[in-house]
Amino acid sequence: MKSVLGDAFTPTIHQAWAAAYKQLADLMIGREEQIYEECNDWTDWRDFGVSEKVEESKEITSFSLKPQDKKPLPPFRPGQYVSIRTDVPSLHYLQSRQYSLSDAPHADHYRISVKREPGLDLEHPDAVPHPGYISNILHDQKQVGGMLQVSHPAGEFFLDVGHDKYPLVLISAGVGLTSMLSVMKSLDEQEATQPISWIHATRNSKVQAFGEDVRSMAQHRPNMHPHVFMKYPSDKDTEGKDYQFSGRMSLGKLDREGDLFLDKKDAEYFICGPERFMTDMQKTLREYGVEEDRIKLELFGTGAMSNS
Ligand SMILES: Cc1cc2nc3c(=O)[nH]c(=O)nc-3n(C[C@H](O)[C@H](O)[C@H](O)COP(=O)(O)OP(=O)(O)OC[C@H]3O[C@@H](n4cnc5c(N)ncnc54)[C@H](O)[C@@H]3O)c2cc1C
Repeated sequence: MKSVLGDAFTPTIHQAWAAAYKQLADLMIGREEQIYEECNDWTDWRDFGVSEKVEESKEITSFSLKPQDKKPLPPFRPGQYVSIRTDVPSLHYLQSRQYSLSDAPHADHYRISVKREPGLDLEHPDAVPHPGYISNILHDQKQVGGMLQVSHPAGEFFLDVGHDKYPLVLISAGVGLTSMLSVMKSLDEQEATQPISWIHATRNSKVQAFGEDVRSMAQHRPNMHPHVFMKYPSDKDTEGKDYQFSGRMSLGKLDREGDLFLDKKDAEYFICGPERFMTDMQKTLREYGVEEDRIKLELFGTGAMSNS
């Protein structure tokens, strides 16, 4: 500042800036310490082993991960994610990616569910494949016993403590269902009784993960209502059982009060899926009169959501 402002940067201005800078730094340092405390002082990468690997669908596989040091894991808030780091031999360096936790919190393991990114647009015959690095390493190379580095849980997309009484609308597409499943499973374990609408868009049951888990939760919890939109149901998919609507997701097909709880001013809306899908859902909810602070969005990628 001195070199840019010269004499205009007086000692008084210098002191004021130093004080402001320190205040801001203290705020951030304090928040960082708070996060570490919430995570039992877990500050760095920690070694985890794959304890279970389950193919949930043609595209999505779950990995249960246990810490090598066997110390209890801090609870996370349903909806949060962890970062996973592993070596990528073809790049000659370590790479990290984020994955939402897909189960209720348990002290001995975390679970993530990963979609393989083939990186090939099948609709373009000349397309050159660029398979995603980490998702393919996880699918192809990380078997039970394989090692990964894991960060502590993080993220602002979660079900707030005490909000487990409000009506919930969980809207997802494709692998965006992972964080929603964590919310559902946590509420199931807590025997929560608030109304919950599970609204999910998928192509068909070959690629859809956790269809059976959601149906069985809904069978013993009358407050949970699945609404699955299947874009291209296969001949094995039964309307009324595997899906409720064929075609693209349209909130207009659902009952405004019974399914979307638009008459309840404390209802909360969680949305996760491709960016275009999320902005469409957000726009529709806004048009229905849902205030911004009741809509939560999680983008599975980098960059900001365009707020159209
Ligand atoms: C908060 C958060 C939570 C998430 N949760 C989940 C989750 O629960 N489950 C899940 O599956 N994912 C989740 N993701 C996404 C995940 O972090 C990764 O982005 C995803 O797995 C792809 O990583 P990758 O290394 O396989 O692909 P990358 O190598 O990072 O590639 C990204 C994409 O670009 C394409 N690509 C790569 N190189 C090229 C190239 N040269 N030219 C053209 N295209 C190319 C790939 O095919 C791929 O589709 C989450 C992301 C965030 C931010």
